[in-house]
Amino acid sequence: MKIAMIGTGYVGLVSGVCLSDFGHEVVCVDKNQNKLALLRAGKTPIFEPGLDSLMARNMAANRLSFTDNLKEATDGADAVFIAVGTPSRRGDGHADLSYVFGAVKEVAEALTKPAVIVTKSTVPVGTNRQVKQTIKKANPKLDFDVASNPEFLKEGAAIEDFMKPDRIVVGIDSDRAREMMTRVYRPFTLNGHPVIFMDIPSAEMTKYAANAMLATKISFMNDIANLCERMGADVNQVRKGIGSDPRIGNKFIYPGIGYGGSCFPKDVKALARTGRENGHTMRILEAVEAVNDAQKSVLFNKINAYFGGELHGKTIAFWGLSFKPQTDDMREAPALVLIEKLIAAGVKVKAYDPVAMEETKRILGDKISFAKYVRYEFDGRYNKEYNKSTSFAARVNAQIQHEQI
Ligand code: NAD
Repeated sequence: MKIAMIGTGYVGLVSGVCLSDFGHEVVCVDKNQNKLALLRAGKTPIFEPGLDSLMARNMAANRLSFTDNLKEATDGADAVFIAVGTPSRRGDGHADLSYVFGAVKEVAEALTKPAVIVTKSTVPVGTNRQVKQTIKKANPKLDFDVASNPEFLKEGAAIEDFMKPDRIVVGIDSDRAREMMTRVYRPFTLNGHPVIFMDIPSAEMTKYAANAMLATKISFMNDIANLCERMGADVNQVRKGIGSDPRIGNKFIYPGIGYGGSCFPKDVKALARTGRENGHTMRILEAVEAVNDAQKSVLFNKINAYFGGELHGKTIAFWGLSFKPQTDDMREAPALVLIEKLIAAGVKVKAYDPVAMEETKRILGDKISFAKYVRYEFDGRYNKEYNKSTSFAARVNAQIQHEQI
């Protein structure tokens, strides 16, 4: 099958590379010339374990290519995936759909033969209905179908998640779209990974419900942790105690400094916004967001209390910058909030992260300094594993021997 993938961010690039590895001919499209130059030279613009070698293998096999020419990419395509960003719209928390509709319109104008247009970007319920209308308006003669195929990969483990998904969710409203999506994902179903077909609004909602549930687990556990501290209980023991119950499970119940990244914050906001707009306040989600916002200040308050409010002139080390290990995605990283608060209090910040320093430098410039070698002591133990991102708990007490980079 020939597939066009519009957008080569974390989702588009991983999806395009993995689909080509399963034998499809994939052309990835992006407008960002810097990204394209890197991709054409066989280099990945993002850090994602295993992505570069997989990309090289499929480029060498002539199944994977990169272009800014949408017409060329969609020429003869059976399926066109839209994988552009849907960030929070400034001010109101709604998903900004301008990239999606911009791409959809361009695709509609470029297509000349029947194809299925698949939305992989996370979009609110009802968006694919509008996508359909947009295509009809832009190219009234085009014979096409739409499908919603939300993505559940995790940054840092994206290849594994895409190649061996728990489930593939596909929303369709025609037999032809169902057949086409069955063909796209046949290599996956042959390997035992199920495709769950459903109607389009349900597929759109499934993505938000999944992220909202995971964010809820995190905020719930942070709330429990804060109460544990006041009551003399140890949240890590509580975590083990509840995580062993299979109805609860042991994932996403680690307390920390709040969730971040490119998905949970914006998707929780967007779903809460959808609720408000449709006369149904999502009370749990509103609380999830409020707990998360407050959680980002918990550590600052602790540090401030530890130093008796005398933070000015102190130097504090950060070990790990991104919202989780093995990614250079710094979008909504809680560490950025903490760093800004510390800087405002007159603290000098030195940081180390094995993969996210370049991206942090792009955001913070010379507001902080960066180290390239870290030696740390935590709980009195010396640990030589300095080249790994680690839990946030270890970061504050880190002792850095640094060389400026
Ligand atoms: P991203 O911002 O990293 O990448 C989007 C890319 O699309 C950019 O490279 C941009 O240049 C390109 N683009 C925008 N408009 C274009 C156009 N008209 N033509 C060609 N290229 C265009 O985004 P991302 O993190 O990959 O997320 C994409 C979508 O997937 C979002 O809706 C997100 O919510 C969802 N999602 C993301 C993740 C994740 O872990 N990042 C996981 C699941 C779902």
